[in-house]
Amino acid sequence: MQCPKDKGESLSSIILSGNLAAHQCPVCEGTWVSADDYESWQASLSDRSIEPVPADLDLGYEPSPLDAKGGLCPDCGGYLARARIGLKHPFYVERCVKCGGVWCDRGEWPVLEHLGLHVAVEQLFTSDWQLRSREREYLDRERRATVEKLGDDLAQRVFDLADQLAKHPNGDFGVAYLMRRFEQ
Ligand SMILES: [Zn+2]
Ligand SMILES: [Zn+2]
Repeated sequence: MQCPKDKGESLSSIILSGNLAAHQCPVCEGTWVSADDYESWQASLSDRSIEPVPADLDLGYEPSPLDAKGGLCPDCGGYLARARIGLKHPFYVERCVKCGGVWCDRGEWPVLEHLGLHVAVEQLFTSDWQLRSREREYLDRERRATVEKLGDDLAQRVFDLADQLAKHPNGDFGVAYLMRRFEQ
């Protein structure tokens, strides 16, 4: 089995996350998980739900220079599609469009594991996930802008009020009041 990023380099067997059979390139330290190995590992997990991560989260991880390089599947030669992980330093996870095997450049798997995204990598490639991530990114940006304009204290009170109104059965009356109050 050859490294999709380093021509002619053979991958050797390793174990990820305690019991997931995988392969690693000795040169670039990228990891490959074959679809069968991944699926049987997933079947052993009780919880496979994932949530979008906060945009601009800084885990001190710098993506590998090989992250931008395309590659072909070491198992079937299929094209490796890319899914963006939108952290402060965004990176891309790769997955074979034909067989579903997963490639992570050096350091990406531990980050996915840290974020709890490693349990459902295939979901990262769905349009639903990409949409939810963009929404999360948008909300985080809006929140940061609000803090910048209003200061921590007042911004926090606005967020708390918004939460309370959202939970209250007649919360929309409060929202309508505020909108009318500032209409002119
Ligand atoms: Zn390599
Ligand atoms: Zn493949």
